[in-house]
Formats: sequence, C-alpha cells, structure tokens
Amino acid sequence: MARFVFVTGGVVSSLGKGLASAALGALLQARGYTVRLRKLDPYLNVDPGTMSPFEHGEVFVTDDGAETDLDLGHYERFTGVAARRTDSISSGKIYSTVLEKERRGDYLGKTIQVIPHVTDEIKQFIAIGENEVDFMLCEIGGTVGDIEGLPFFEAIRQFSQEQGSGQCIFMHLTLLPFIAASGELKTKPTQHSVKELRAIGIAPDILLCRSEIEIPEKERQKLALFCNVRSEAVIAAPDLTTIYDAPLDYHHEGLDQAVLNAFQISPAPRPDLSRWKDVSERFHKAEGEIRIAVVGKYTTMEDSYKSIVEALAHGGMANRVRVSIEWIDAEIFEREEPALHLAGFHAILIPGGFGERGTEGMIKAVEFARKRKVPYFGICLGMQMAVLEVARNAAGFQDAVSEEFIPQEGSKSATYIIFHLKEWIQGNNKIERHLGDDKGGTMRLGSYRAILAKGSKVARVYGQTQIDERHRHRYEVDREYCPQLEKTGLCFSGMSPDGRLPEIVEWRDHPWFIGVQFHPELKSKPFQPHPLFADFVRAALENSRLV
Ligand code: GLN
Repeated sequence: MARFVFVTGGVVSSLGKGLASAALGALLQARGYTVRLRKLDPYLNVDPGTMSPFEHGEVFVTDDGAETDLDLGHYERFTGVAARRTDSISSGKIYSTVLEKERRGDYLGKTIQVIPHVTDEIKQFIAIGENEVDFMLCEIGGTVGDIEGLPFFEAIRQFSQEQGSGQCIFMHLTLLPFIAASGELKTKPTQHSVKELRAIGIAPDILLCRSEIEIPEKERQKLALFCNVRSEAVIAAPDLTTIYDAPLDYHHEGLDQAVLNAFQISPAPRPDLSRWKDVSERFHKAEGEIRIAVVGKYTTMEDSYKSIVEALAHGGMANRVRVSIEWIDAEIFEREEPALHLAGFHAILIPGGFGERGTEGMIKAVEFARKRKVPYFGICLGMQMAVLEVARNAAGFQDAVSEEFIPQEGSKSATYIIFHLKEWIQGNNKIERHLGDDKGGTMRLGSYRAILAKGSKVARVYGQTQIDERHRHRYEVDREYCPQLEKTGLCFSGMSPDGRLPEIVEWRDHPWFIGVQFHPELKSKPFQPHPLFADFVRAALENSRLV
C-alpha cells in the first residue's frame, strides 16, 4: 500500500504548492520509488473546463479526457507520470456525486451531512489506486482557514487516523516574510497557520518555508519549537531562477531526506539526480536567445498558456538556447499591419483558444508567417486559423470561416471549412455530441491517435507514423475541402485512423509551417522535450542565423 504525503498551504496563496509537490515527487523517483500526484480543489466548480482562462489559467487535459487544474501539468512535467481523471477532484464534483447518490436513494433516506458523507467521498477518492505506487502525494488547493477547504482537511485527518501508523505525513508550505527594515525573516504568520492546522487536528511533520533568504538557525529553531516539528524538518524553499532547479535545490535543503525520516525509512536509498542536473545545466548554460511571438487571446494572463511556455522552454533546452517569448494580442492585427509587430521574431506561434475575438488578426499573422517563410506553429485554434488563411488566400474561398464564428451582419455567404463535429470514433467507441449538451460535455477530449503521412515533415520530426496526442476542441477541419486545399500546397500530413478528421497540416514550400489539431505542449517534459517543440525551436534558431 502507498505511503501518503498530504501537502497543505498556509499564510498566503500562490506559494507554489503544486511545484513543491511535483519536485518532491521527482525526488522520490530519483530515490527509486514510484509516485502518483493528486490535486484536491476546494472550489465549487465541477471541473476547471468551463472556468475562464483569465481567472484560472490553463485547463490541463489528461489522456483519459479529464479537464483539470494546471498543477497536474507540473506533476507530469516533473515526474513523467501521465495524470488520470482520478487525480483531480473539486468540491463541486464531490458534492454532485453525493447529491446524485442521495437522489438515487443510495443513502437509504439518512440525513446527508458533510461528516461523514462528504468526507467519506473524499477519502474514497484519495485511496483510488493506493496499491499501485510507493508514494501518493495529495495536494489540497487553497490555504488553511478557507471555509470551503474544511471538508478536505477533515477528510485527510480522518484518512491518516484510519491508516496504519507511519503511513501518512503532512507537509505544510508557508511563507516567511522578510522585513527589510529590521533585516529579519518573520515566523509569526507560519506559527499562526500551523496553529490553525492543529486546531483541526492536523500536526505537520514538515514545514516547507518560502523565503527570500536562507533561514538563520535562530528562526529555524524557533519554528521547530513553536510549530512542534523537528528542526531538520524545517526546510527552506528559496526563490528560484527556474522552476526546474526545484528538485536539486529542495534536495540540497534536505526535503526528500526529511520526508523519508518522517516515514522512518532508513537507510534511505541514495538518490540519482543526473536527470535534474542535466536539465538544470541545459537551462543555465544555454547560449544565445531566440525570440518567439505568441499571438493569442489570453495574452494578459501567462498562466493561460502555462504548458506552451514550458514546452517552449523544453524546446530551448533541447537546442541549448534561451527562448524569449513575447505575447501579442491578436486583435492588434485587425487594425495594424502584422509586419510592424512581427518583423524581427524568429518564429511565430498561435496557441489554442475559444470564440471569435481576435481570429481575424490571427489569420493575418498566419499569412505573414506563411508568405515571409517565418517558422509557424499553430496549435488547435492556431491550426484552424492556418487552414482558414490558406483557404482564403490560396484556395480562393474568400468567405472561409469556422462554425464557431457567428457570420458578420451583412456578409453574403460563408464557407464553413471548420465545422462542428457531432460524432466520432474513439478506440472502438462511437461518441456523439449535441449542441444542447452540458457546457464542457461537447468537446473532443483526451488522447486520440493520428496516422502521419510517410515522408511528411511531421513523420520525420516524430520519427514514427503513429502518434497519440491530447485533444480539447469542438470544431474540426471539414475533410470535404481537403483536395482543394491540397492543390494549393497545403499537406494534410496527419489524419485520424479512420481518415475522417484532419489532425495535422503543413505548408510544403516553407522551412517550418505546421498546424496541429491537438495539444502537444501537454506532453512535453524538460527531460524529454516534445519533438515538435524541439524541432520548432531548432527551426527558429536556424532562422535567427539567417536574419
Ligand atoms: N475553439 C476551437 C475549437 O473548439 C479550438 C479549441 C482550442 O484551441 N483548444 O475547436
């Protein structure tokens, strides 16, 4: 049975619990253990699928088609373990399951209460697959003291109580604010947040403390004394220049050793940190810089494209070059010439997105990249925009649009090159969708296979002709138009296995012009950069030597 590490947060939000959990997962792996990471989110949304990217950041999609919190992306990038639907849960989902059971009569008419019904549901979720790994790391979203987090804290308290002794530990992430005037790190907020935890029956075994400076011995002792933890279990989590230094830095501070001590695992297996040394070296010893323009819609909130940012960094590591990203709001090209903004970039990327806003500008950016032979990478909406650009400017369908966009008032006609798909095949199953379905229930989600054309650029990049990639979209390129589009020089180099759904396009007469209907960024890792991102950055680097 797995050992459980419960990760909680205190003092303020956004301290990086997800990253800390992910880095700890990587360190346990480095010691030869198997791990799985899980996120328990107290908000009432059923899943993050319908939450605004402006507010919530990216929606991370798993192979089995769950729309989850972006922290699951961190988990995968650090451990390489593919997250599953059962690795992410919210209060909304828990409550809706409990209410469904109540409606079905599963509780035989009993009074339904937070304790035990909601907490039981949470505990069941925590225990899923407990026999599969050595360590299960469960992160509780939010901060201790939040009203909506209480059932989760109560559930992990009960869970640890019910397990054999030494099966569960609690790690609490806090902040030690630095007061410049007195030159001191303050421990009081941490003391208060631990007090809050202990009031609900949870005594942390490990304190991971974010701080701008090293924790002086005096403060470490003070924290140990007042928070009732061993002084070697007070771990400093200093600010990092790159998140990919976290495993090495946290190891240096003694995090994994403290965790093994808390479980009384002795002697501790020696860690093999070569993977993370290589990643860190590739980042710090990068030579030169390439500049990539990301033309999108949610450009004011970088977290909306979290995995893209990381995958580009991985592509940089693969080529030992720094990647600098500039965010450009696509709408600007509806008023101003793209050349004014895009000249000078070594490559252009259009990421995924929803809705019509900014799409005319994106099409202009694609035209610029295609005609000026600037490396172009279109992801999901970015592929659809590439197809529309070619349809309009090369194949003569001036009115080419996507069904996602409402036809402009007064526009005479529209050719729907991109259409709303209502049924498709996944594995051996036929899946159907209807417009009236629940929001979030109408998308093609999760891993799908694509077959790549022999001799195509993507087949060369992947080094194989069969790939599995993750999807999250409603609309598809209509294959009826493929023959006319192919005549212009667009190649449909990846198709679904049944040949019905275009998955990849490339423009033949171009150094690097690829659009993909899926999200390759979700599968990229620093120690295993996604081939498309590695090759895109390579093409950008080559272009930088020309301009
Ligand atoms: N809005 C487009 C669709 O639903 C693209 C989605 C995306 O980029 N993830 O098909």
